[in-house]
Amino acid sequence: MQNDIQEVLISEEEIQAKIKELGEKLSAEYEGRDPLVICVLKGAFIFMADLVKNITVPMELDFMAVSSYGASTKSSGVVKIIKDLDESVEGRDVLIVEDIIDSGLTLSYLIDLLENRKAKSIAVVTLFDKPARRTVDLQADYAGFVLPDAFVVGYGLDYAEHYRNLPYIGILKPEIYSN
Ligand code: 5GP
Ligand code: MG
Ligand code: MG
Repeated sequence: MQNDIQEVLISEEEIQAKIKELGEKLSAEYEGRDPLVICVLKGAFIFMADLVKNITVPMELDFMAVSSYGASTKSSGVVKIIKDLDESVEGRDVLIVEDIIDSGLTLSYLIDLLENRKAKSIAVVTLFDKPARRTVDLQADYAGFVLPDAFVVGYGLDYAEHYRNLPYIGILKPEIYSN
């Protein structure tokens, strides 16, 4: 698996240090608010686990699985709910935990959905951000790292469902895609 990686973009240590920082900011922001923290599966599962350990205020967790139709390295904007939330978001301070914002289409769909369900507030924390690729006007409230316009894997992010378990973020060798 490590042999398929051409370059490590962000190391495990850098990721963990950034998550500590994000956790401190979010702990201050959500003091006394009992947020509903929503993990967008599958990509955000590792970030969610590491992040919530660094947030010191009481919270509830929930999970939602979405997938966007289309080619495996691009979002089509047509979002399908694979697993919906267990909890009601009505009147709740919601924090959406995302792995990466690319076009922004997935997130824009999710925000509309949670607004329609009458969340009291909606904020987004993403570990990775590719602002150059945005097709909708949307920004995360908290973002870890800005990435170049390249397809990355690791730390929850997959190519064909593999590489999610790498503890760092990297770029695959080009020959992996052509197999
Ligand atoms: P968006 O809707 O913002 O275009 O992208 C949403 C989803 O596409 C992300 O949550 C992620 O699952 C996937 N995605 C976007 N960019 C990348 C990337 O560079 N690598 C991987 N593995 N997935 C990505
Ligand atoms: Mg995602
Ligand atoms: Mg994927």
